[in-house]
Amino acid sequence: MSVRTGREFLSIPGPTNIPDAVLNAMHQPAIDIYQKGFPLLTDSLLADLRALFQTKGKSFIYIANGHGAWEAALSNVLSHGEKILVLESGLFANGWGDMGATLGLDVEVLPGSWQEAVKPEAVAERLRQDTNHEIKAILMVQVDTASSIVNDVEAVGKAIRSTDHPALFMVDTIASLGTMNFSMDEWSVDVAVSAAQKGLMSPPGLSFNAVNDRAMKAHESANLRTAYWDWTARMGKVHYQKYCGTPPEHLLFALRKSLDILLDDGMEAVALRHRLLAGATWAAVSKWAEGEVLQFNIPNPAERSFAVTTVLFEKGYTPENLLDYCDKKCAVIVGIGIGALDGKAMRIAHMGYANAPMLLGTLGAIEMGLKALNIPHGSGGVQAAIEFLAENVPPS
Ligand SMILES: *Cc1c(COP(=O)(O)O)cnc(C)c1O
Repeated sequence: MSVRTGREFLSIPGPTNIPDAVLNAMHQPAIDIYQKGFPLLTDSLLADLRALFQTKGKSFIYIANGHGAWEAALSNVLSHGEKILVLESGLFANGWGDMGATLGLDVEVLPGSWQEAVKPEAVAERLRQDTNHEIKAILMVQVDTASSIVNDVEAVGKAIRSTDHPALFMVDTIASLGTMNFSMDEWSVDVAVSAAQKGLMSPPGLSFNAVNDRAMKAHESANLRTAYWDWTARMGKVHYQKYCGTPPEHLLFALRKSLDILLDDGMEAVALRHRLLAGATWAAVSKWAEGEVLQFNIPNPAERSFAVTTVLFEKGYTPENLLDYCDKKCAVIVGIGIGALDGKAMRIAHMGYANAPMLLGTLGAIEMGLKALNIPHGSGGVQAAIEFLAENVPPS
């Protein structure tokens, strides 16, 4: 017996729901890559990406997932054997660092927690010890999609600059761009990385670098540069050079449509929508946690991301049956725990193309599963989410 026939709800932290208008934008014949006017599409995307990152620097589009943009960022500013400092707060900054190790970088991890944001003072302290300025770059994520932490990029940027240490500050915004404010120039970020398939509601396959003058200066002498990722090569006059080959036409049509939708709403409204959906999720999880099995991974509400909420299972319970129930019985796909939380947590995504009924549907299926499977929980989670939204979304 199931109640699954109907639209499937994808509630995982990437790839996220693609709006029908974005899917439709791809449904057209290929065009001549030398067609007049095509470079204008690229120019409009690069300009709007700069606006999203809030930078006066340069932006680049890669035909790659987020890992590609990671490699692009590292290889463009660093040289073999140089040291990078990774600020741990979950899975992804460390993953980026591991990639650096395979490129021949000397990787140091500043140990952190999966339950707390990076401490700006600890970063400053480590940099003050580095009197010879051996650390060339500092890697951090804004939102870690495994732990669901949000790091305070502004505070960490300030802490770094307060030491007068020249290391580049490189930030992964793959799960945060389009879900929370990110202000690259104001926050002293030198290189920012993002990708299309999370907050930006586009198909996987495009990723981005945003780069300021300090990073461009480091780029001049970096010896990890390769032909494909190279920023300088991509600044060539010919349109073809911007992609180091054939432009990914249909993905660009899709991204154009997604950015139009986001910019029509306005980025402040987009961030506010995410804050409201996150708040509704937290209201539900707080109720469920009264059963003493489900628990927030991030105890401090101020350190929880607006994009995804990681929920721990305790007292010997595991998420597997619940996620299976949501999928098989209700057509709701909730994220599994990954990395250190593999088999120990679920991740409820509330990012990208998501509205109140979609989120309430997901929360409703989870609560239905908790009940059907007799997993101890405080009841009324969905009611709490509704009350939160009703209170925070007034009629005018
Ligand atoms: C998803 C994600 C990545 C990896 O992106 P891919 O497109 O899967 O390579 C990196 N960092 C963060 C924070 C992410 O959420």
